[in-house]
Amino acid sequence: MSIKISQNFDAGAIEVVNASDVNNIELNLRKDSHADFMQWFYFRLQGARNQDATIRILNAGDATYADGWDGYRAVASYDRENWFRVETEFDGKVMTIKHTPDADSVYFAYFEPYSWERHLALLGSVGQSEQVSVVDLGNTIDGRDLNMVVVGNPSAEKKVWIIARQHPGESMAEWLVEGTLNALLDPANPIARAILDRAVLYVVPNMNPDGSVRGNLRTNAAGANLNREWMTPSLVTSPEVYYVKKKIEEVGCDLFLDIHGDEGLPYVFVAGSEMLEGFSEKQTREQNAFVDSFCAASPDFQTKFGYEASKYNEDLLKLASKYIGHTYKCVSLTLELPFKDNANMPDLEVGWDGMRSMKLGEAMLQPILTSLKA
Ligand SMILES: [Zn+2]
Repeated sequence: MSIKISQNFDAGAIEVVNASDVNNIELNLRKDSHADFMQWFYFRLQGARNQDATIRILNAGDATYADGWDGYRAVASYDRENWFRVETEFDGKVMTIKHTPDADSVYFAYFEPYSWERHLALLGSVGQSEQVSVVDLGNTIDGRDLNMVVVGNPSAEKKVWIIARQHPGESMAEWLVEGTLNALLDPANPIARAILDRAVLYVVPNMNPDGSVRGNLRTNAAGANLNREWMTPSLVTSPEVYYVKKKIEEVGCDLFLDIHGDEGLPYVFVAGSEMLEGFSEKQTREQNAFVDSFCAASPDFQTKFGYEASKYNEDLLKLASKYIGHTYKCVSLTLELPFKDNANMPDLEVGWDGMRSMKLGEAMLQPILTSLKA
């Protein structure tokens, strides 16, 4: 029986070089649409039930973050609900995935996808709460809705912003937001109630709908890296940032959290704003209080491993969290979740995944509350 590789579905991305031999399936990563970034993959294999499939990704060494393949294992799923890690090796050039599927059809991906359907379902589900408004901010380039979830009373004193998936391939970011929103709307959660007494939350679960559906790692439909657009967003090439930035200008911001995934580091960490000119003692104190509280709230969060403070010197204010920290003088953080695993608490079966991201999103309520009390 012949085998088949396909990728023409939500977030699908791969190029087939040769799929005639199940023991040597040859594939290539493909670039983001209209940009040179290359890392995300998501494809389906049919016809290999009970056969030892060997999948070789020939150009893995040319990926944008090739070091991201060291210690990395691909995820697979039969039903696209339950994802598990599979044997993966990288020799510096070619990445080889080995798996013997139990079913006729199996999917492989860079990370557990967060589908557009799930995104719409999330908006629909939280939107039924009396505490929530689902706001349309405008259209993306491909004509999708850019939505924001407002939780709580807009007249509350403090304004908290959470945005996710500026980099669309970092699907763990939207899993995290789902966890945060569900915890916030749980009437039995006392932390959520205390937060909503003090603040209104503006949450953009998916900043980059087009890139998500197109199967891009970092860019939108115009090839823009949204996390480099915050100085001068354009309605033509980066409307997603344009609309959100405008809304922040309108309502203000007391705490800003931008959720991402990191290809290389197997840890959860934040990048702060301490390198900004004019970063005050008050900001330092408040940023530290948030970080300490997050450490206490979730053993998955840590501060030992992360970025050097100088990592983004040149583009500094083009980045969302730096731009906001600079403009609003508030706690403004980029939160990074791993593609691989949390090396402090590895899970051999699933690695870091959607559920663990959701749990972290729940735990994030504690540092949010700490920050509001400061
Ligand atoms: Zn990112």
